Amino acid sequence: MYDPKSMKADEFISHEEIVATLEFADAHKKDADLIDSILQKARERKGLSHREASVLLACEIEEKNKEIFELAKQIKDDFYGNRIVIFAPLYLSNYCVNGCLYCPYHIKNKTIPRKKLTQDEVRKEVIALQDMGHKRLAIESGEDPVNNPLEYILECIKTIYSIKHKNGAIRRVNVNIAATTVENYRRLKEAGIGTYILFQETYHREAYEYLHPTGPKHNYAYHTEAHDRAMQGGIDDVGLGVLFGLDKYRYEFAGLLMHAEHLEAVFGTGPHTISVPRIKPADDIDPNDFDNSLSDEMFEKITACIRVAVPYTGMIISTRESEETRKKLLQLGVTQISGGSRTSVGGYSEKERPHDTEQFDVSDQRTLDEVIKWLIELGFLPSFCTACYREGRTGDRFMALCKSKQIQNYCHPNALLTLQEYLIDYATEKTREKGDEMIKRELEKVSTPAAREKCAQWLEEIKKGKRDFRF
Ligand code: SAM
Repeated sequence: MYDPKSMKADEFISHEEIVATLEFADAHKKDADLIDSILQKARERKGLSHREASVLLACEIEEKNKEIFELAKQIKDDFYGNRIVIFAPLYLSNYCVNGCLYCPYHIKNKTIPRKKLTQDEVRKEVIALQDMGHKRLAIESGEDPVNNPLEYILECIKTIYSIKHKNGAIRRVNVNIAATTVENYRRLKEAGIGTYILFQETYHREAYEYLHPTGPKHNYAYHTEAHDRAMQGGIDDVGLGVLFGLDKYRYEFAGLLMHAEHLEAVFGTGPHTISVPRIKPADDIDPNDFDNSLSDEMFEKITACIRVAVPYTGMIISTRESEETRKKLLQLGVTQISGGSRTSVGGYSEKERPHDTEQFDVSDQRTLDEVIKWLIELGFLPSFCTACYREGRTGDRFMALCKSKQIQNYCHPNALLTLQEYLIDYATEKTREKGDEMIKRELEKVSTPAAREKCAQWLEEIKKGKRDFRF
């Protein structure tokens, strides 16, 4: 039985409810009146249910589809302005005991060299990332209780936060590791992590069990209920995601939104972020083996529909996608992107991009500086801000500020301050020129005169060598 408040995976992600939702969406895909009323509700910026959003996703009326895309752009602009938050993944270990059919780390893969960073290697990686200008990381690891136990992850987090190299600092570490216990989530929280991210991969239970034939990840309920345990362990910012391409995208879309509704119903706060990765080639992995690949057009529509359905949730896109696709998705609702990423264990300390331990092929291979310059040229304001969680603006506090749009009073000036740091410490001359012009323009948009003055004053202090100001 479907119950968003239930703590049982099969009840808050009910297969029957998804099937009924898809039937309803199919029956109404050309129902202009219903689609209009859903769009009207979405314009109020209060979000949509999984059923309503699924009707928009199925919509086959061209002119209404244009309205969906337009609305996504407006909502993005309303809540997030032109800011784009920047992060990088850091791969700690590719040892893994799971048998995931789509992932090169799977236990049966005998061709991939196994590697786990020592603390000294973590230090080298972090220094390389700091020298690029990164302030926010997402740490990634395979699941292996012997090689990468939680103690190892905690030690790495401690090392990462401890490194102060030149003006560099990693100020927020997000964590993407396998589902674990409430107690372990509590320990991660105590270690000062930002968001706990866990991709569902697929919400279709049967497909999930087939795709994860062996290892602890085989347990669908344990995996699906992980975000609940993370919240119970005190982590109030959690990230959802689906690996598009594994199963039917309409099923995944409905499941993803039901998961968001469940978090909101139980904890009063929806997910902090939603990621939209698509399956990529990798060692021992051919995406053609999975027959649910998604066209770029549909991928764009999914992004737009997520934006309209959950306006207050950040959306993340990685370097799995090309420059061209990322450009389109940025306009439609994506709020965070990675830049200069390397998906191999120890990849940042190498001069040339290594491929042997990579988790997936990186499509966007530009340097961070190239990505920053590109964003500025497109009119986006790159932000290295990590202030919210450091100031305790997490979970329901963050959501309340976001819903009332007050978050703009923090995010916009913080984006300017952190971009200024980046331009002085790491940018090439061309990027610096463009960035300085952007800061001048964007400073005018800081909403209150007092905040504008303070921001201008701090920008000057940064030029004199001071760092880490924040609203
Ligand atoms: N081991 C952790 C877990 O089981 O959730 C998470 C870390 S894993 C390094 C991060 C994510 O990479 C996975 O959740 C999966 O969605 C994604 N991934 C795995 N294989 C991939 C592939 N071939 N192409 C694109 N993404 C992939």
